[in-house]
Amino acid sequence: MITFDNSYARLPAGFFTRTNPTPVREPALVALNRPLAQRLGLDADWLASPDGLAMLSGNRMPEGAEPIAQAYAGHQFGGFVPQLGDGRALLLGEIVAPDGQRFDIQLKGAGLTPFSRRGDGRAWLGPVLREYLVSEFMAAFGIPTTRALAAVTTGEQVIRETMLPGAVLTRVAASHIRVGTFEFFAARGDITRLKLLAEHVIARHYPDAKSPAELLEKVVEAQASTIASWMALGFIHGVMNTDNMSVSGETIDYGPCAFMDAYRPDKVFSSIDANGRYAWNEQPNIAVWNLAQLASCLVPLMGNDDAAVATATRIVHEFPVIYRREALARFAAKIGISQPEAGDQALSDRLLTIMAKSGADFTRTFAGLANGRAREEFTDPSEFDLWHADWRQRIAGLGDADEVMARANPVRIPRNHRIEQAIAAARDEGDFSLFHRLDDALHAPFTERPEWDDLAQPPARDEIVQRTFCG
Ligand code: AMP
Ligand code: MG
Ligand code: MG
Repeated sequence: MITFDNSYARLPAGFFTRTNPTPVREPALVALNRPLAQRLGLDADWLASPDGLAMLSGNRMPEGAEPIAQAYAGHQFGGFVPQLGDGRALLLGEIVAPDGQRFDIQLKGAGLTPFSRRGDGRAWLGPVLREYLVSEFMAAFGIPTTRALAAVTTGEQVIRETMLPGAVLTRVAASHIRVGTFEFFAARGDITRLKLLAEHVIARHYPDAKSPAELLEKVVEAQASTIASWMALGFIHGVMNTDNMSVSGETIDYGPCAFMDAYRPDKVFSSIDANGRYAWNEQPNIAVWNLAQLASCLVPLMGNDDAAVATATRIVHEFPVIYRREALARFAAKIGISQPEAGDQALSDRLLTIMAKSGADFTRTFAGLANGRAREEFTDPSEFDLWHADWRQRIAGLGDADEVMARANPVRIPRNHRIEQAIAAARDEGDFSLFHRLDDALHAPFTERPEWDDLAQPPARDEIVQRTFCG
């Protein structure tokens, strides 16, 4: 029922370990993403059938699936770990969609693998629901991201601080190849496989790249664009380790991620990010740091001499230039300007500075520029009023400002407190109604709808989420 074409599994030994999912007791479908199934050319009715559920839970592999745990390494909070790899995820295989695009089909939470280390290979329902909602919102907004095809509960408990319901997420990605995948082979001095990996990535993601240097350029461009998009939504990934950075440029490995409510540039949610390494305003710098690791890995394929190092360095240093351009385009659009000019960066920065002083709600301030409610977000609106007058003057002659803002500013984001409420109801009562409401509402992030007004509200004081956790 699914035609697989598993290019990664055709790579030689050393890239992965063949591992079957561990069956689960009582799989039940929580969510099936029918529009995504259609986009991929998959039969949604089959996916919802007992045979489909058997695949989505890892209980039975369909013909053509070749489950593998991919090997990778990575810098975690700056420290190098030479052996990571899929510890609780398995790549079932790849499919080619009707439009010719190739996608990985991966199960997250599928059981132990040779790379599980001290983990149990499982996921609990909370992170599965969070990733489902957040990744689908990112996709609805047009941001490069992995997608969620399905979520199932397993009928088993997983042990974290307490016993929690187990779940499996079916994740779809252009690939799951990470900066850390390159680091895995580079750290071992395995130039043969490093070269094969670079060739695989070029063929798969960047067919126009004619050399490892051009591959690096492409990844730098893709990441600069993706991270500019994160910034413009107030998104904080939370764990930008090199093993969680995709070379395709897609947002990947949603863990303790979150969107800001009140704007604070150094905002951190992740419980494990004690020093704020992955704070909102650090993300572009961390991307440079991560891409420098990728560059180091590619130097051996670029001649391995001083000239190679100079080229790799130059390419990584292009990131801030590209990022500034991409971010200006995003933030100018948020204030209705489609063709930024000199002075627009300052106009945008000035608004952000005023927002930070008031702790204005990031999403509602920008959405409120179009509907006149932005002023309500400021404790002392006097500075905002001055900014607003200058801004009105700037956009006075622009015919498309409202349209540009409407496309750049969501009226609804996946608010932490709503995600936490949806998770708590699912965990404690088996009630998925808020999850499904959020799923529907977040697939239409630009549309104001009275029945979803509550989902656009910032958290009440006692609803504010300060910390998010890994799986
Ligand atoms: P993450 O922080 O989710 O990006 O994961 C970092 C590494 O830990 C990856 O190699 C994961 O596969 C592994 N890992 C995380 N959670 C588990 C788990 N419950 N069981 C096994 N491995 C895990
Ligand atoms: Mg990861
Ligand atoms: Mg993760």
